[in-house]
Amino acid sequence: MEHSTISAPEQVVERQQVREVVQTAIEVLRERRPEQSSPSAAANSFEAEALRAEIITVGRKLWERQYVDGNGGNISVRLGSKYVLCTPTMMSKRDLEPADICLSDLSGNILAGDRTRTSELLLHLEIYRVNPRARAVVHCHPPHATAFAITGSAPPVGLISEYEIFIGPAAVAPYETPGTQAFAETVLPFAQDYNTILLANHGVVCWADTATHAEWLTEILDSYCRTVLIAQQIGKPLMFIPEGKIAEILALKRRMGFPDVRLGHTPEAIAPASAKDGELDRLVERVVARLEGRD
Ligand SMILES: [Zn+2]
Repeated sequence: MEHSTISAPEQVVERQQVREVVQTAIEVLRERRPEQSSPSAAANSFEAEALRAEIITVGRKLWERQYVDGNGGNISVRLGSKYVLCTPTMMSKRDLEPADICLSDLSGNILAGDRTRTSELLLHLEIYRVNPRARAVVHCHPPHATAFAITGSAPPVGLISEYEIFIGPAAVAPYETPGTQAFAETVLPFAQDYNTILLANHGVVCWADTATHAEWLTEILDSYCRTVLIAQQIGKPLMFIPEGKIAEILALKRRMGFPDVRLGHTPEAIAPASAKDGELDRLVERVVARLEGRD
């Protein structure tokens, strides 16, 4: 672009005008992304293909670790801003094929795929609704964590550094009948500040940026619960990490952007739009600098 065709007559670049142009450009580019157009384009996109493969891998891991029995457990991943890929109902997580994965909208309506979606997708959708940082959700029934869930209590914190870093305090959501909207809503008070929620008399649910990472959280949680249960049988008191050292871990989590209820709401967790605005502002500043000949 020529400098003279864009700048105002008095040669002062109006930031607001530039902002509007940049905003429009971003929206046009977003519209052209296949996952933003039609459900079939979304289902057939390369991104969807890769996410289906990841869901299948995660399903096998859950089954191999004995976190899902029978048709138990479910996995979902967000696809763009309008869609979710999820596992079907009545299938072992060991046996999934790409054609079994359903495409749903954010209300739980199936848009592509021959199978019926998991009834517990409603739980996943509530997490996505209140937490834009959640891009993938894994729900399963790992025995050691579920053992805590049937006592209505979370495992104690402050015992193993890795658990503190990746999870920290887990929430316990009250019991409701699985598959119902009431069940889905039990996690609402916890879905922003906790990446790991025990579901009373049922199992666990974890969210993360990817399905792989959400599955990692279930592994870290269940191994931790198992270790705590074994340690409690040794007959010696548990030895906790000193508070000052926990503070160091929390400072690390803050820097890494990991959620932890002890840190309160992270900026990304409560204001994803403002992060995008920050990006937009930086773009506008670059365009203005170029137009003013400073760049
Ligand atoms: Zn379940």
